Amino acid sequence: MPSRLEELCVQKGLKMTDQRRVISRVLSEATDHPDVEEVHRRASAIDPRISIATVYRTMRLFEEAHVIDRLDFGDGRARYEKTRTDHHHHLIDVETGEVVEFASEEMERLKEAIARELGYDLIGHRLELYGVARSRRQEPQGDS
Ligand SMILES: [Zn+2]
Repeated sequence: MPSRLEELCVQKGLKMTDQRRVISRVLSEATDHPDVEEVHRRASAIDPRISIATVYRTMRLFEEAHVIDRLDFGDGRARYEKTRTDHHHHLIDVETGEVVEFASEEMERLKEAIARELGYDLIGHRLELYGVARSRRQEPQGDS
């Protein structure tokens, strides 16, 4: 059965080879935000003939077709996730690299308001939050 991402690729007119199908399946099933190396690791576990160069090329193609989004978490490695309809942002735990997804109506309104105040219509934005978990910052105490 074709993955949802594969169906999207076909809709966008991309020619799907076996290797592209495997890569689209890996991305479709990912619940995290893998980088190219990680996608290659997962794809080559399914088909060992898939090279890192093929993964790079295919993901650039998917990105250009807007079926996946490239994310920048500030460490110089591009991460990817399938393009979603629900708008969300990411908070990156700088100690563990864990990524927490969140959405905020309030923030969306604020962004619009800021742009408007400056005399602009908002057409895009990038926003990532970086943090350290408060639970790990606290000194261990006997009782809680
Ligand atoms: Zn995400």
